[in-house]
Amino acid sequence: MYRTHTCGELRIEHVGKIVLLSGWVQRTRDLGGMTFVDLRDRYGITQLTFSMDEQPELCRQARGLGREYVIQVEGVVSERSNKNKQISTGDIEINVSKLSILNASQTPPFTIEEESDGGDELRMKYRYLDLRRPPLRENMILRHKTALITRNYLSALGFMEIETPFLIKSTPEGARDFVVPSRMHPSEFYALPQSPQTFKQLLMVSGYDRYFQIVRCFRDEDLRADRQPEFTQIDCEMSFVTREDVLNTFEGLAKHILREIKGIEIGQIPQMTYDDAMRYYGSDKPDIRFDMKFVTLQSTQESIHLIRGGHGFKVFDEAELIVGICAQGAADYTRKQLDELTEFVKRPQIGATGLIYVRCTADGTFKSSVDKFFDTEELGNWAQHFDAKPGDLLLIMAGKHEKTRKQLNELRLEMGTRLGLRKKDDYRFLWVLDFPMFEFNEEDKRWYAMHHPFTSPKQTDINALCKNPEHVKANAYDLVLNGTEIAGGSIRIHNKPLQEAVFNILGFSPEEASEKFGFLMTAFEYGAPPHGGIAFGFDRLCALLGGSDSIRDFIAFPKNNAGRDTMINSPSGIDKQQWNELHIQHQKHISS
Ligand code: ASP
Repeated sequence: MYRTHTCGELRIEHVGKIVLLSGWVQRTRDLGGMTFVDLRDRYGITQLTFSMDEQPELCRQARGLGREYVIQVEGVVSERSNKNKQISTGDIEINVSKLSILNASQTPPFTIEEESDGGDELRMKYRYLDLRRPPLRENMILRHKTALITRNYLSALGFMEIETPFLIKSTPEGARDFVVPSRMHPSEFYALPQSPQTFKQLLMVSGYDRYFQIVRCFRDEDLRADRQPEFTQIDCEMSFVTREDVLNTFEGLAKHILREIKGIEIGQIPQMTYDDAMRYYGSDKPDIRFDMKFVTLQSTQESIHLIRGGHGFKVFDEAELIVGICAQGAADYTRKQLDELTEFVKRPQIGATGLIYVRCTADGTFKSSVDKFFDTEELGNWAQHFDAKPGDLLLIMAGKHEKTRKQLNELRLEMGTRLGLRKKDDYRFLWVLDFPMFEFNEEDKRWYAMHHPFTSPKQTDINALCKNPEHVKANAYDLVLNGTEIAGGSIRIHNKPLQEAVFNILGFSPEEASEKFGFLMTAFEYGAPPHGGIAFGFDRLCALLGGSDSIRDFIAFPKNNAGRDTMINSPSGIDKQQWNELHIQHQKHISS
């Protein structure tokens, strides 16, 4: 027997008991007469004591233990004179009578404690050691619990978890596929799924009317910060449902997870249309932990003309849109702080040409960066329109519609952060509804599905499909948490002619559509029920629940920012025989 208890288990009521523990040596402290060892396992840390007077040989052996040695000890649980309130086992220690080394360890390349001294790359290379640290361990526990709670919740509602294949077929929509060469079929390739989308729809055709799967998805996208080429979704689909049925079901799941994991009741999740999200927040995933809605002073699209012309201020005279936010209580921002904000919006990632501010001072007057052009009365009108109070700061941007809104969104988020309005433990969900069905891509001059090609247009917009694709709204929805999209889904198309029409708008010839998605359209001819679904980004959800911005910390073995696993050194070359078996030419062979 290796152990009677774990290293996180013993309490004051165990005093006097003889126990066996096994674990890793976190550190040893030699105080002359006594040697202390912190013994760690997944459950916690227990202090071991060795007395020079009573057991000199054992004590000497303990002094020789290196960090991360795996040991087994036998001893008696005793009350500590110096209690440690920080840890759950802090009332007791083990007076060791027997020690055996189960395995020695090299000195680890970084400290394996709450905080580590190791850099990112080093910790990634030795991920199995980093995973021993309590913060990562807590993340893994949180992930496990969230998965378990999700499975139980959905299963109780009659959802079945069904696996779908990983070796599928490359399709032209969405992101780039990872492909796998086939040995048995020369020059042919499988693709790894970007999501089980078409398979879950086929399961609906098969009559499994409530499906879910916690499933790995693969997308070969250019790596941006905190993207992983493989990631996990809670993927779901339901038959005979309206949009409201889907929203209610998964609002229930979101509430349940928050209650079980965080002990928080989130109440009813508000809903907002995509158009309003763009108008008031310049984003399809607004962070509603704070208000600071956009206020439009001028818009050629909406015929709003609150700014009288003729002041000689070109920036406004030439703008399609003049829009701003009111930062409450920020009128005392210093010149330096305002300059910082201007620099912030001028950064190439945001690309604004400038920022206009109006301080609403405590004495009811206004101080602005455009005093040369606008008098107090005019500035007062703006302030009134913003519903600003003395002490508030107006930040205004002007330019082209879409670009200006996007820029102001960045500024709004920055101000939210600066004013401490984006608290990590404040969980604000939002449904964003009625997304446009298509987006036009100026580069390749064609329409793309904003969600995916299987999303149904809103019933009321079906007639406009071919004539005015730009006006068609999709029956699609996103669930946003604190400004991050954590789930997205839609009611699907379930009949062949409509699916054909959508493929046509997306520029597929009938032959291409049938080559790539014929299986789905054929299935639609065999009694496809109305259906819809959603998928949650599971890694991101865990990160948000864990109060972190980084999904990497919630994946046991993630890739680094360059898409590499530096621990196993992947991707890597394959040997010549493998190249040959796969019937693909070795690059080096080609060039030589
Ligand atoms: N398959 C979709 C995605 O991965 C989600 C859905 O529509 O259910 O984004």
